[in-house]
Amino acid sequence: GFKCGIVGLPNVGKSTLFNALTRTAAAQAANYPFCTIEPNTGEVAVPDPRLKKLAAAGKSKEIIPTRISFVDIAGLVRGASKGEGLGNQFLANIREVDAVVHVLRCFEDDDITHVEGRIDPVADAETVETELMLADLDSLERRIVQFRKRAGVKDKEALTILPVMEQALALLHDGKPARILLSKLPPDELEILHSLNLLTSHPVLYVCNVSEADAAKGNSHTAAVETMAAAQGAGTIIISAAIEAEVAQLPDEEAQEFLADLGLEEPGLDRLIRAGYDLLQLITYFTVGPKETRAWTIHRGTKAPQAAGVIHTDFEKGFIRAQTIAYDDFVGLGGEVPAKEAGKARDEGKDYVVQDGDVLLFKFNV
Ligand code: GDP
Repeated sequence: GFKCGIVGLPNVGKSTLFNALTRTAAAQAANYPFCTIEPNTGEVAVPDPRLKKLAAAGKSKEIIPTRISFVDIAGLVRGASKGEGLGNQFLANIREVDAVVHVLRCFEDDDITHVEGRIDPVADAETVETELMLADLDSLERRIVQFRKRAGVKDKEALTILPVMEQALALLHDGKPARILLSKLPPDELEILHSLNLLTSHPVLYVCNVSEADAAKGNSHTAAVETMAAAQGAGTIIISAAIEAEVAQLPDEEAQEFLADLGLEEPGLDRLIRAGYDLLQLITYFTVGPKETRAWTIHRGTKAPQAAGVIHTDFEKGFIRAQTIAYDDFVGLGGEVPAKEAGKARDEGKDYVVQDGDVLLFKFNV
């Protein structure tokens, strides 16, 4: 499954947000409860209103949402890359994630100490980013020595990996994160970049943590973060961890009312997940049967056999074809049989690029 790491300086609201998100998710998905894998990892169900409609049309007994996990990565402070606070566990945790959710303090509260003594989320973001870049620079400089030697004697593996390493290193030397390469490299080189396990090669979503009063419209701090994020091609959302913590305690209806009073339409979790989906370019396809209606997460652009592989590797290996019905047809016509009768079920082969909302039924050899 997909994994987001939550980073940020101490006291910006990471834990408050993490706890609220995982509790809200637990309340929303009664039959797929949030489970604690490790103390700092929470798996949340991706809220998707389409599931209910599909399950009704398909007469499914159960709904199984797709999941994303969040890891609360504590321990980042100024000087971390020089060994202050940034332990091995921190490095291991952040290297494993697919995306980084970077929480920035955009609320004023004299009672809550800011580690740098002032509220300046753009400067905070730079502090964190600098530590991550220094750590990457250090590890790449160490590893690249061997690769240059091996490439010098025409070692095939080194010759393919080295150019990507050199590009990442050049960026880091220039004070820029390796994630700039994400939009520049062809797919095979992207895979190499991922295999380098750099801290700054993940896409970033900035979460501006604001006070309740600023939750609907933001403030001057969030505006500054938005400008910075736009320049980096990163995403931004405004969330009040304090509100999310309250929402997490309320029954569904009361939570809706509470949010409406604050000028908000939905819990931060829903917005965060949607932003995460956009950031990672993820889409959802569905399988619908009498037993269950289930959502599956794939990257945009994934072809049918690889999409099948998310369910089971055998589905990918033995892939023959995928019966495909678009979400609107499945729900609008009232299920698989009427959709078929209306000529809305297509048989797609191995080159079919799965679309968001597709209802798929795989035919495969065992
Ligand atoms: P972390 O160190 O980044 O994990 O930060 P915590 O989640 O532990 O929060 C640090 C302190 O800030 C706690 O006392 C929280 O109650 C408080 N806090 C978190 N979010 C908000 C917020 O949106 N508004 C205010 N006023 N306080 C907050």
